[in-house]
Amino acid sequence: MAEALVLERKGELALRDIALPDQLRPQDVRIAVHTVGVCGSDVHFYTHGKIGPFVVQEPMILGHEASGIVVQTGSDVQHLKVGDRVCMEPGIPDPTSRASRLGIYNVDPAVTFWATPPVHGCLTPHVIHPAAFTFKLPDTMSFAEGAMVEPFAIGMQSALRARIQPGDVGLVTGAGPIGMMTALAALAGGCAKVYVADLAQPKLDIIGAYDGIETINIRQQSAAEAIAEATDGWGADVVFECSGAAPAILGLPALARPGGAIVLVGMPVDPVPVDIVGLQAKELRVETVFRYANIYDRAIALIGAGKVDLKPLISATLPFADSVAAFDRAVEARETDVKIQIRMPEA
Ligand SMILES: [Zn+2]
Repeated sequence: MAEALVLERKGELALRDIALPDQLRPQDVRIAVHTVGVCGSDVHFYTHGKIGPFVVQEPMILGHEASGIVVQTGSDVQHLKVGDRVCMEPGIPDPTSRASRLGIYNVDPAVTFWATPPVHGCLTPHVIHPAAFTFKLPDTMSFAEGAMVEPFAIGMQSALRARIQPGDVGLVTGAGPIGMMTALAALAGGCAKVYVADLAQPKLDIIGAYDGIETINIRQQSAAEAIAEATDGWGADVVFECSGAAPAILGLPALARPGGAIVLVGMPVDPVPVDIVGLQAKELRVETVFRYANIYDRAIALIGAGKVDLKPLISATLPFADSVAAFDRAVEARETDVKIQIRMPEA
């Protein structure tokens, strides 16, 4: 038995003991969890009990953005040892599947992902994880930053899918945590400047504090007008849609330059209208993003080298004992909160 933050059913969280499998396979490591970030998806399972086809039917441990310390290694594990500081990639594919062999293991139909029903997450003092999806943190990175690698990986995947060229002008619609991560990844990926549009000024103030980021408050000026002004009417080279909001998605063609790219990152809850002819008239390339594949090493390299600083995006850190309060604060969705983290008790 281990203590864990358990989503009993929609709207009901409990910090309680739960029975967990304890078998360490030769290719696994056992990790003492140190820090776990609260993600929008965790919160959505709490408030709605489902995301698309994934429905909470049994009690499920939440959490998938984690760092920790290796406390035991399986007999086949080569690249990790006891005491290593690590972060964990929460999606585990079947490495022999057709998708995995193509390098797109994020869309392997067999992938299992922490805290996506029926798979338990990591808000518990110890987890067993495949060493192949466990990554050593450089000394320059804190556990808190290690737990930020997961959401940053989505930003990185978005930047890669965009095929940014050096000097591109980027535009991000939606300044939620993933919008912010995407803006920073786009800058690190070669954008000369990234504009971020949202209607919440406190969020824009947080991301606008970074060099290279300009903000657009769409309560004052439409994103289309602002980006036209900034680019002499040409449009952004790459547009990252991170709001999932129907009006933003309908308005995408007006934001990109002719021949530019649109990357769909945000997930609308329901199907939304898309302006196909608007996209065609500029021959825009449309890319989609689902989680990430082969990104963790790159993300850790950028953060560890100091090229990307995610520390300003960590808004609050609460102890494991206050996990329910941490989630209730995340549900409030304060405009000044980006990422709330939970710290496990010292082992
Ligand atoms: Zn997440």
